[in-house]
Amino acid sequence: MHDSVLRHLRESFHERFAHHGHVDQVRSAGRLFAGDYSAAATVRDEFDGSLLGIGVMHDLAGEVVSLDGVTWRVPVDGTPVAVDIEETVAFGIAAHGGRRHRVTVGAGVDVDGLLGVIDTYLARHHIDHEEVVCALRLTGTFRDVVLRTVASPTYEGETLGEIIDDEARFRFDSWTGTMVGFRFPDATTGDTIPGIHLHGIADDRSSGGHLRNMTTADVVLDLWVDELHRLHDSAESGGAESNEAVDFSRYEGPVDD
Ligand SMILES: [Zn+2]
Repeated sequence: MHDSVLRHLRESFHERFAHHGHVDQVRSAGRLFAGDYSAAATVRDEFDGSLLGIGVMHDLAGEVVSLDGVTWRVPVDGTPVAVDIEETVAFGIAAHGGRRHRVTVGAGVDVDGLLGVIDTYLARHHIDHEEVVCALRLTGTFRDVVLRTVASPTYEGETLGEIIDDEARFRFDSWTGTMVGFRFPDATTGDTIPGIHLHGIADDRSSGGHLRNMTTADVVLDLWVDELHRLHDSAESGGAESNEAVDFSRYEGPVDD
């Protein structure tokens, strides 16, 4: 083959992959759920330079939402607090780079409906939702929003499931703000949290947390198609591990009441 043809092939290959972002996750979900809330990374290491991110603070001092270069924690009283970049998270997922897709979402779409909208969009672009991670940013006005946050553990070894059973829920008939997060593959070995996982922060910064329920009213969805790049953890391995499969939908998904 001519060099020029090879060069062209190589360039188009690079161009295609240059459009793919990547996602960095600190700590496996299984280890977090088993009760390891120690520092996995600083806010700087995990979120600096990222498009968006979510997580939970060291010692569960609040759900974490990171956007526009600022990272917030939502402590158990429900009011977001900006965090210093030297503070640490026990779990974090951050999206970097890639090409932004604008996806139309109508009114009246709930969390399960949003999953359908995303998967339909991906399928139309010949992308299998089990093969990629999508970073998501939903901005606008929502109805019937339930956000939650968690309190710090009350005793050594309390699992995240036990703590979430006592989660603090905040309900809003109408809520305006930004929700960021991910659509991970449904299949998981326990390292990743499957399906849609969003954390919100209100435009007026008076509320936020892990999204349980919502219905879209007037929103815009931006999506980045990413590869899950790295899973790292600055803490020593060992300690809290669990062979129990985590019921992620019970602890992280929509709630009935
Ligand atoms: Zn969450």
